[in-house]
Amino acid sequence: MSQTLTPQMKEAVAARVRYYREMGIYDFYRRDVASELSLDELSAISEANSPSQDSLALHPVEERDDMARKTIAAPVASDVNLVVTKSEKDIADPVAALKVIREDIGDCTRCKLSKQGRKQIVFGIGDPRAELMFVGEAPGADEDRQGEPFVGRAGQLLNNMIKAMGVAREQVYIANVVKCRPPGNRTPERDECDTCSPFLMRQIAVVQPKVIVALGAVAAKNLLAVQSSLGDLRGRWFEYRGCKLAVTYHPAFLLRDPRQKAEAWKDLQMVMKELGLKPPAAKSDSKAETNSEV
Ligand code: URA
Repeated sequence: MSQTLTPQMKEAVAARVRYYREMGIYDFYRRDVASELSLDELSAISEANSPSQDSLALHPVEERDDMARKTIAAPVASDVNLVVTKSEKDIADPVAALKVIREDIGDCTRCKLSKQGRKQIVFGIGDPRAELMFVGEAPGADEDRQGEPFVGRAGQLLNNMIKAMGVAREQVYIANVVKCRPPGNRTPERDECDTCSPFLMRQIAVVQPKVIVALGAVAAKNLLAVQSSLGDLRGRWFEYRGCKLAVTYHPAFLLRDPRQKAEAWKDLQMVMKELGLKPPAAKSDSKAETNSEV
C-alpha cells in the first residue's frame, strides 16, 4: 500500500530525526510493518512510542538512551527520505567530530535562551583528547561576550584550581551543561538543560576523558540525573558512560564562600590521585600557596 505523507507529517518526522540526532542517535532503519499500517496508525504509534522531553528527564541517563533507542524502532513511512548526515561517531579525529557537533548546534533557537539576550553560543574549549574534563553550569556575561567558557572571575579561580592540580588549562576540556547565557546569570531551567545537555553528552562521547569533574549542583544533577544534595555527591566516584565522574563545588560558590576551598581541594586531590597528577613544585617560601590558590 503506497501512501503519501503531508508536508506537515514530513516536517514532524524530520523534527523527530533531528531530536534523535541531538540525543546522539543516528542509526535509523525501516520496519516492514510500516507498509501494513495506515498513516493514522503510524501517527498513533509514533506518538505512543516517543518519550516526551519531560518523561525522558525523569529517567536516568543510561535509561534515557535505552528509551530513545527503543523509540527509534517506531515504523517510519517508506516514502519519507530520511537524510541522516554523517555523525561524529564515524569520525576518528576528535577535532573534526567536535566540529560536527558545533555545526549541529548552529545558531541555536531550540530553547528560550536564544531570545533572552544571549550574544553567542559558548560551545566548549580545550584539548579534544583531554583526560580531564570540567563541566560547569552555563556561560555568564564574560563568557557570553568572549564565546569561551569560564573566562570571568569564576574562570580565573577554575584556572587556579587546574594549575594547582599540575596541569594547564589548555590540557583539559571545559564545557557547560547549557551553552547560552541565562538572563541575569540565573540558574538554567529544567527545559533549557534538557534541550542543551544532549550536545554536552556528545562532546563527552567525543573527548572520552578519563575523568569528568562536575562543577556544582546543576552540572552534577544533569549529568547523573539525580536529585541528591552536593554534600551527598562529593567525595566519591560515579561511573558516567565509561568515564569516572567526581563532583565538587562550583568556583562561583567558592568565590562567595572561600572557606569551602579546602573541601574543594580534597575533591581535586581525589581526581589527581586517579590521574596520577602531582601538584607543581611549590615555590621556596610558599608551601601553602597551592591550597590557598584553590
Ligand atoms: N559559570 C559556569 O558554570 N560556566 C561558565 O562558563 C562560567 C561561569
